[in-house]
Amino acid sequence: MPGSDHRQLERGCRRRIAELDLPSPLQLAELKTRLETRRGRELWVLPDQGELPPEITGLWIGTATRDYVYYQHGLDGCLLETTLLHEFSHMLCNHRSANVQDQAWLQQRAPALTSLGAIEHMCMRTDYGSSDEREAELMASLILARATRRWHRTRTEASRPAELAARRVDSIFKT
Ligand SMILES: [Zn+2]
Repeated sequence: MPGSDHRQLERGCRRRIAELDLPSPLQLAELKTRLETRRGRELWVLPDQGELPPEITGLWIGTATRDYVYYQHGLDGCLLETTLLHEFSHMLCNHRSANVQDQAWLQQRAPALTSLGAIEHMCMRTDYGSSDEREAELMASLILARATRRWHRTRTEASRPAELAARRVDSIFKT
């Protein structure tokens, strides 16, 4: 049943978020640091410099030594934030997408990425039907909803939501 499926997915996401014990207010940079600690490796967040095929807005790649999150050049504000949260959520859920099977796709559509070395897993926002994608979307929206609630409660300086979003995103590049 789709309904109970969704509820189960949501329960799992809420449990994971509770375990994270996220600070308030939450900065994306803080979430990034937590992921690095949890996974015991660096996470690099990079704007696309021609690595991504145009239809991909965000991509998480894990190699043997490091995680990479690429986002489409030009994304900003809420769009950038939700894209990064989506990719972070894949990591929080320990997803290991099967997309990586398609090394030929990678060679053809994103040759620059093959320079990162052997890729162990890769998630991208193309296959919305898969349960991993649904879970990552849900997780990202729950984190955002929780964080936004708190931001609204605690905000003091910024007055508009767009401004708040821009500040939150800004902070990730200052680590
Ligand atoms: Zn995804």
